[in-house]
Amino acid sequence: MADEARQTMTKFWEEHSRDATLEEMMLDSSAKLLSKEEKPEIISLLPSLDGLSVLELGAGIGRYTGHLSKLASHVTAVDFMQKFIDKNREDNGYRGNITFLQADVTQLEQPSESFDFVFSNWLFMYLTDEELVTLIQKMMSWLKPGGYLFFRESCFYQSGDSERTFNPTFYRTPAQYNHLITSVTSTSGNNGFEIVMSKSVQTYIKIKKNQNQVCWLLQMVPRVPDAHQGYGTFQQFLDNQQYSRRGILRYEKIFGEGFVSTGGLETTKEFISMLNLLPGQRVIDVGCGIGGGDFYMAKMYGVEVLGMDLSSNMVEIAMERAIKEKTPLVQFEIGDATRRIFPEASFDVVYSRDTILHINDKGALFKRFFSWLKPGGKLLITDYCCGERPWSPLFQEYVKQRGYILYTPKEYGQFLEQVGFVNVQAQDRTEQFVQVLNTELKRTHEIKEEFLQGFSEEDYNYIIDGWKEKLHRCSLGDQRWGLFYAEKPLDAIL
Ligand code: SAH
Ligand code: SAH
Repeated sequence: MADEARQTMTKFWEEHSRDATLEEMMLDSSAKLLSKEEKPEIISLLPSLDGLSVLELGAGIGRYTGHLSKLASHVTAVDFMQKFIDKNREDNGYRGNITFLQADVTQLEQPSESFDFVFSNWLFMYLTDEELVTLIQKMMSWLKPGGYLFFRESCFYQSGDSERTFNPTFYRTPAQYNHLITSVTSTSGNNGFEIVMSKSVQTYIKIKKNQNQVCWLLQMVPRVPDAHQGYGTFQQFLDNQQYSRRGILRYEKIFGEGFVSTGGLETTKEFISMLNLLPGQRVIDVGCGIGGGDFYMAKMYGVEVLGMDLSSNMVEIAMERAIKEKTPLVQFEIGDATRRIFPEASFDVVYSRDTILHINDKGALFKRFFSWLKPGGKLLITDYCCGERPWSPLFQEYVKQRGYILYTPKEYGQFLEQVGFVNVQAQDRTEQFVQVLNTELKRTHEIKEEFLQGFSEEDYNYIIDGWKEKLHRCSLGDQRWGLFYAEKPLDAIL
């Protein structure tokens, strides 16, 4: 089977590399238009290439080799079709920092820890599961710790013209790619891949109404034993523990449609009004959940919103909702706020609701927010906080079990000031929190019958008891809720 796949693939690409053209490369007759828009989009998602040693797999005629070699210190461009390699050398060879290598990636060997970045655009879809698993393992050894892997694939169906004849591609769903990667990286070695970002290529959505061009950026990080309560990655912890699909939908019942945070639409309206949003402004929602706040902002204020969340279950539901909402102003992506890379001054507003409780190093995170914001940009956060220590044993146990990292509202505000934010407001909103909890409890009692149509009695009790426990922890003075507003100074130096 494996050899047969190899032969079919080789034959396919031999037939499609005769002219070494852009159209062959993209298997699409509108290649020029697509490539012109797509290339900058893909490039904007890459980490800084400055001084890096790059391995490009399935480089083809070098659509990306030119850009990579312009910034990186060295690029090794691999393809198994000599015709493509020749064309790539002809166009880009003059730069002098590229090694052109004719090789089948399934046979490729490289020294360990010899690359900072592996880039591949449309290659994994031409490999069987077994070949891909082996390649991922090899890439983990070729990469230096902290190094990145970027890849982009056609998922579900092909990106090009549908009338093209035989195209022996393995169309996987994005979830299948995620699964393949986590299965390899959570079982082997001292390092593993953590997801930085995964999203659909917007150019294909815009020009071809095709959502199934998906890319990933992963980072190789040392694995800390037991860092994620028994799960291989933090994403798996979120997706399997607190934010399973059922868990999310159960939460939504009490928070209100579209929301997994305190007060649902009501607090959202109140806090967003503090931002004086203007049409065309760009907002990032960090830990966007299932996107209720994002649809609201886009529809109410005409802002462009990027909803980012590390939980793939959350983003999946958000994308399902987006189809119904039909708001082209809202985009969603899987992204880890602690690793995601954006150019400086990308956003007018950073918005985050009841999310940062999951993130350990608040100072480092706020530094990132500061850099993502334009000068004069605004930050709005609500988050779970705590009272002064010592805490009751009950609260200690709750925080430990959830894996939350909590500070007092005052400490939280200090983190923001230390990073350079000005006009910082750090408000203890526990009183409002308690009011909201009571309202949510009451409403959930009232809709018990409806609740039980979609969920079990056990689910219902879980929610009701959970809310009563929250109220109890508040009454002890341990659990608190904070609202934070801050601005990046207008004269901040970029
Ligand atoms: N990355 C380029 C080319 C994409 S087309 C671009 O975005 O324009 C896929 C490329 O992968 C082709 O050039 C094909 O020759 C190459 N390829 C497919 N299977 C391969 C394998 N097993 N080893 C090396 N190259 C392969
Ligand atoms: N803000 C949403 C969801 C709140 S639930 C709302 O108001 O409805 C908290 C969210 O934080 C979860 O969806 C969780 O997946 C997300 N999250 C936790 N750690 C994250 C990280 N490092 N990067 C991005 N999102 C994260």
